[in-house]
Parts: sequence; C-alpha cells; structure tokens
Amino acid sequence: MNDENRNSKIRGCIFGGAIGDALGAPIEFASYESIVQKYGKDGIDGYVEHSNGFGEFTDDTQLTLFTIEGLIRFIIRGRCKGISSLELVMYHAYQRWMYTQGEIVKSIYYEKISPKNNGWLINEPLLHKRRAPGLTCLASLRRDVRIDRELGSLDYKINDSKGTGGIMRVAPVAFFSPNPFSTAIQIAALTHTHPLGYLTAGFFAEIIWNCFEGDTIIDSVMKTISLVRNESNFDCEEIIEILQEAIQLAKEYKDGSISLTVQECIEQLGGGWVAEEALAITVFVSLVYENNFENGVLAAVNHSGDSDTTGSMVGQLLGVWLGIKTIPQKWIDNLIGSTIIESISKDIIEKTYYRFNSYNNPRELDSYWERYPGW
Ligand SMILES: [Mg+2]
Repeated sequence: MNDENRNSKIRGCIFGGAIGDALGAPIEFASYESIVQKYGKDGIDGYVEHSNGFGEFTDDTQLTLFTIEGLIRFIIRGRCKGISSLELVMYHAYQRWMYTQGEIVKSIYYEKISPKNNGWLINEPLLHKRRAPGLTCLASLRRDVRIDRELGSLDYKINDSKGTGGIMRVAPVAFFSPNPFSTAIQIAALTHTHPLGYLTAGFFAEIIWNCFEGDTIIDSVMKTISLVRNESNFDCEEIIEILQEAIQLAKEYKDGSISLTVQECIEQLGGGWVAEEALAITVFVSLVYENNFENGVLAAVNHSGDSDTTGSMVGQLLGVWLGIKTIPQKWIDNLIGSTIIESISKDIIEKTYYRFNSYNNPRELDSYWERYPGW
C-alpha cells in the first residue's frame, strides 16, 4: 500500500468516527418512530443539531482523541525514558478528559492532569464541553487511586459494565500497536471490567487494523475471529455468536432473502447500548454499505438505539476501509472542531505511524515532547 492510501485510511477513520458521532448526537435518545415523525420517512440525512447546518461530536470522539493522545505519549515516553506504562499513561490521558468535563481529578500527580505545560489537546476550548458523557467512564475515572489503589484491568474488576464506553474509543489503537487486540482490551478495561466490555474493544481494534492493512470488511472480521479463537485464552464465543448473526443478516439482506428493512435488522441485533450489540450493529451496517460511506453512516444513526456510538463506530470502520475521499466534503467542512480532527490525524500520520520505528533522533523527540509530554 502506498503512503497516500495509508494517509487516506487514517484520516478516513478519524474523521469518519467524528462525523458519525456528530450525525447521531441529536438523535441518540430518540426512538425510530420519533425520528421519522420529525425528519421524514428516511430519517435525518445530514447534521440537524445546529440551525446553521453544522454538526458537533460528543464524548465518543472526545475520548477517542484522548486515546490517540495517550498512545502518542506512551510511545514518546518509551523512546525518551526507556520505560513507559501503557496503563498509567492512558489513565492520565483519560483523567485529562475528566478535567475537560469539569470533574475534580484525584491523581497523585496533579501536574500530569492540569492544562499548564501539558500538551495541546487539553487546551482546546471546544473539548471543555459536556456532551452526554458516559456514566461508567465518569464513575471509573472518579475513583481515587490513592484510596482505591488499583486501576481497572483484566485482573482487577472495578465494575461489571459492558457499556459502550470501552469499545467506542479504541479504533486508533490500530495505527499504533502491532497487537491491537491485546492493547485495546487493556485500555478498555481501565473503565469497563465486564469481559464483554473490554473483549469487544479488542475485536473492534483488530478489525480496524485488518481493514487498514487492506483486507475487506468481511475478511477482517473473519480473521479477527480466528485470531481470537486460536491465539488467545479468552472465552469470546458470545461475541463471535452475535457477530455471526450480524454477518448472516447482512448476507440475507443483500441477497434479498429476508424482507426486513435495514433499520429492522439493526433493531434485531439490539440497541447498541451494550458493547457486543454496538459491535454487531457496526459490522452489519458496514457490510451492507461497504461501498457507500454516506448511506452507511446515515443507516447507523437512524434507529432507536445508541445513535452517536453506532454512527461513530460505523464511520470509523467505513472510513478506514473506503478512505477520506468517500466522505462527503460538506460533512467535513461543517463539522465543528474539524481542525482538531485534522491536527491529530496529521500527528498520527507524520509523527507516529511512519516513524514509529525510527524515533532515533533525540532532538526531534525533545521538540515533540512539548506537544505530547510523556506522562
Ligand atoms: Mg456520545
């Protein structure tokens, strides 16, 4: 794959996610009936939140941005200091998101969280807005590690949540880690410690990675299933079962052997309020619309379930598969905060992806430390 293609896939994924999130945001809690009643028989066909036609992303994208920030800082720290803890660096990144939400953060190291001399992302005013943040993420990050000692992890349960807060923020792991499944499950388990809350995140990051490497969506899903079955010790059969249901539904919908509408198929898979349903809906919609970003993302938000999360995840998957050029330009131009998305995509492309293995010039690293301090 050439550089242009890789850049297009990375930008497609990050923009696609933010756009799907922004499209779904105003109808996150609306039933399908009320959506068609208000917007016509096809539901929404563009941004409807602001009267000037602009769209605005929510916590799904905010947390994805802080995931990217954490991953870059993790790499920078490792190269500069020779030692880096993924869990701690990611925890600090999410604590900075908490700060933007007006929460009192309880880190031992306050300077790692507060905006002063702490990189660029936390200093973006637009991010200091509460956009229906997920309650589990908030509760998990409110824990005071001075008292509670341990962070959420595969070995240390802090809750029994399989909400979508883990899966909806891990797609960019695919651009950083040689092993997206295991990296994503660790990151998701910081806040969601029901196995379905974090294992689904591993599936999603691995599927995104396979698509990034050039596999079709169906091949990416099948490869991920066989990787998890053959090379991990986790029991993922419940996830595999619902994925197979999604694949079968997509096949039957496409060959006309069922008479359900796309929206009815989505609702058959669930509302997407829990992670395995969000994953299944994402795979179903992306398979049905594998050649059409616009229609895919609209289908992913026009249903009774968790529209911004399924919109964001379908946007990420179709975006990485189809690339940035398939995303309608008007949705990029009218996205509030598109310059933030553009900057961070550039950082992935220029500073991290290509040079992931060639950060040998310490002076260059020093200058990068300013934008992404390594903690
Ligand atoms: Mg949201």
